[in-house]
Amino acid sequence: MIFHPDVLTIVLPVQSTLPPMAVLALAFVFGACLGSFVQAAALRLNQDEDVIKQPSRCRACGVELKWHDNLPIIGWLKSRGHCRECGASISPRYLWVEVFLGVMATIMVVYFPLSIASALIIGIALMTICALTDLDAMLLHLPVMLVMGGVGFGLSFLPFWPLSPMAAILGMIAPLMLITVINLIYMVIRGETGFGSGDYWLLGAVGLWMGPIFSTALFFLAAILGAVIGIALISLKKGHGQTALPFGIFISLVFICWPILNILVII
Ligand SMILES: [Zn+2]
Repeated sequence: MIFHPDVLTIVLPVQSTLPPMAVLALAFVFGACLGSFVQAAALRLNQDEDVIKQPSRCRACGVELKWHDNLPIIGWLKSRGHCRECGASISPRYLWVEVFLGVMATIMVVYFPLSIASALIIGIALMTICALTDLDAMLLHLPVMLVMGGVGFGLSFLPFWPLSPMAAILGMIAPLMLITVINLIYMVIRGETGFGSGDYWLLGAVGLWMGPIFSTALFFLAAILGAVIGIALISLKKGHGQTALPFGIFISLVFICWPILNILVII
């Protein structure tokens, strides 16, 4: 029974009725607030700071930000991307991450039942943190990946989530076996491993969300994406054959695209 394809693959049910506009607006605002948290969490994790308790400050002068400075999207637009105290520029990435998660949350609520949409928004937010920390400092933080894996495994026990706990565990094991074999081959040929421990944790965590077939597909898609970007960097003379690429970004990107691909295949 475990090996029946329906149990191994996870196809998310798409809804045909459009939710009321108020729900869509709420989803956008919620996503944008989440984006604000995601961006702050990524910065703080990389600098070993407290993610939850620490008040928001200007990174240049240290002044504590007022509540209206912290309003997602509006706060950045109002200050035109500058600290009101010292005038230091605030990265437009704050704005883009907030808009991105606002849009993603709205898309999830449009196409998926609210229970599944809520789970996906959390998954996308956690993977955006991983992508940003990996992009900034090639760091993947264990607590974020543990929460990601924990939520994925927890979902498999809930009636609305179309993946069994057994399939979730297989989803974790499949890509881990794959990169262990690749690392062994790498070790024999080049005397070093190709994937770091962060990649193991992250692949295991997303595997718990997706089941073995999709988590294996995710690994290959992420590897192809990494290879394409690696070749592009080499051709632009911004990298060479030995340049280490943050693989966590590609895993995160493919995971974030997964619900969208699911929508495109179903409708
Ligand atoms: Zn400042």
